[in-house]
Amino acid sequence: MPERPDSMSDLETLRARLRFVLVRTSHPGNIGGAARAIRTMGFTRLHLVDPARFPDPEAYALAASADAVLDQAVVSPQLTDALTGSQLVLGLSARRRDVHLPELTPEQAATKAWQAAAAGQEVSLIFGNERTGLENDELARCHAMVMIPSVEDYSSLNLAQAVQVMAYELRKAGLAEAPAVPTPTDEEPPADAALMERFYQHLAQTLDDIEFHKGRAPETIMLRLRRLFQRARPDARELRILHGVLADAQRMAQLAGKAGNA
Ligand code: SAH
Repeated sequence: MPERPDSMSDLETLRARLRFVLVRTSHPGNIGGAARAIRTMGFTRLHLVDPARFPDPEAYALAASADAVLDQAVVSPQLTDALTGSQLVLGLSARRRDVHLPELTPEQAATKAWQAAAAGQEVSLIFGNERTGLENDELARCHAMVMIPSVEDYSSLNLAQAVQVMAYELRKAGLAEAPAVPTPTDEEPPADAALMERFYQHLAQTLDDIEFHKGRAPETIMLRLRRLFQRARPDARELRILHGVLADAQRMAQLAGKAGNA
């Protein structure tokens, strides 16, 4: 029987596994608004990737009394850094992109996020730039895309309001029923985003080394391969095997190169 967390502290533990990641935010006011939005729903972890201006008085002005969230916000230059440790990454997007990710409503995403947190996983919810949204290579780091069902011809919410909707759904899902904490199993958890990124780098390098591309652009095939492995969600042990396979392929390519030159 799965156990339920029976105290607030269990819920706190789960809540601490959820982080909100704002990518390339242009307006510091939106960062403040987002901080307030997550604070009102009981969350605290805010990550900022390459913000145009931060820290900034406008962010603090809009945060009302959620200053602590801004004080503790983690700023990183790259999305990869902000996702380190995350085993489930959900990307919020106003538009359907050609990345072919599973699509979730905020409500479904909230349930999925709590389930992952209850299984001991770290979860990231990522939000794009005000004008351009999340780019395809940013969405390629996600396991699913979350779309707030707005009207077709005017689908884009203000960034902080999109954060509010998602934070509200997370709070509702958390309050409705304390998420079940599964009993530990022998199953390894999925590898985190940093390990996945290291694997993608190795895979890209190997494809180069074995001259897989033959003049074609590597970007499209890498996006497809990312999609495949994001869907499979390999664990750390499986990634080690894949690294081994790639290393051997690189070694053989090097040998073949030497033989060719001899
Ligand atoms: N023109 C951009 C809109 C960016 S709005 C685009 O088409 O993507 C800034 C961010 O707010 C988005 O990147 C997304 O993370 C979030 N957002 C805005 N409206 C949303 C919606 N309807 N569903 C999900 N996320 C939304």
